[in-house]
This record gives sequence, C-alpha cells and structure tokens, in this order.
Amino acid sequence: MKFIQTFCVVDSSLRILWVGGDWDDFALKAGGERALANNVLSTDLTGHITDILTADKVSEMVKTVIRINRPLRVEYRCDSPDEVRRFRLTIQPMKDRRALMVHDLRDALRLETPMVEWSFDPSVREVKCSMCSKIHLPSGWRDPSDLSFPHPPLVRYCLCPSCVSRVDQAIRAAIAGDKVEDTPAIVPKSGIMLE
Ligand SMILES: [Zn+2]
Repeated sequence: MKFIQTFCVVDSSLRILWVGGDWDDFALKAGGERALANNVLSTDLTGHITDILTADKVSEMVKTVIRINRPLRVEYRCDSPDEVRRFRLTIQPMKDRRALMVHDLRDALRLETPMVEWSFDPSVREVKCSMCSKIHLPSGWRDPSDLSFPHPPLVRYCLCPSCVSRVDQAIRAAIAGDKVEDTPAIVPKSGIMLE
C-alpha cells in the first residue's frame, strides 16, 4: 500500500493557505484536476464540500481547534470503487489563528469484486455518507463494500447520524482536553504556501 499523507493549512475563515504532502497525487485520484493544489489555494475549504451538513461540521471542527488551541482527531472512510480506504484526520492549532489539517491513510483493503463506479450528482435521491461511505437505503445506512447490493452509480453526499455524533464526540473530546496521540509532524516535507 502506498503511504499517503496530505496537509492543508486554513485560516479561521476556512480559506486554504497551503497544501502539501501527497496532495496532488491524491487529488488527481479523488477529485480530478479541479482539486490540484494550484486550483484550491486561496479558495474556501467548505466550497469544495458538496453538502451543507459536512461543510458545517468541518467548519465547526476547525473553528473549535483554533478557538481552544488544542488538537482534534476523527476517523473517516473515503473509498475508491476497488478499495476500502480508512483515513484519520488530525486538526492541529497553529499560530496566527490558523489550523493544520493532516489526512493520513491508515489502511486500504482491495476488494476482489470492485463496487460499481459512482459519481456525484446533487439531484439524485441516493445519499452516501461523506465520512463512513455508507449508503442510505430503506433498511438504514448500509456499507456498500459488503456487495449485498450494488453501489448506486449516482449519489449525493451527506453525513449519517452516527458520523454526526462521532464528529460531535471528537469536538467534545478536544474541548475536554483529551490527548491526541502521535500528533503528526508539523513541518511537512513539501508543499506550496501562499504568502
Ligand atoms: Zn457516516
């Protein structure tokens, strides 16, 4: 498995000031040309998130870190059709009311039978959780990698109730001062910084 780590520095209004690490490698896979470093610098981070609930929760996490000056961590999943990929997001306070967001790929499980490729369409009814990758079905939120049902080819994104409570829990833990273990190095090896 290729080690992937991406960095992003934002200010308190969520403007992207810096991206680095494997950003471009990963952006090309996950978001295409539009997500490349040169195209996201100086833009609003939440403008790259397609649903209001996820954007609000990301914003709340970053603003909490800046306000309390303590790190916060939350796990999430961002699959490709042939891989279940688990990531960890660590948000660390920096000076001048900025925050460093570090996304670490923790593990990737290759699926023998890939899921149906999906793309984003804001007008469809099928909903996928942007943090755990589950799909909302009449029977509840279900994991599409178990292959008991085909992945819908078009989805819009949202946060499922259990991910909303995981984010809220991470925010409460940060406010309570819970320790975040093995905090990533704050000086990444490469990147592009806005002046
Ligand atoms: Zn979820």
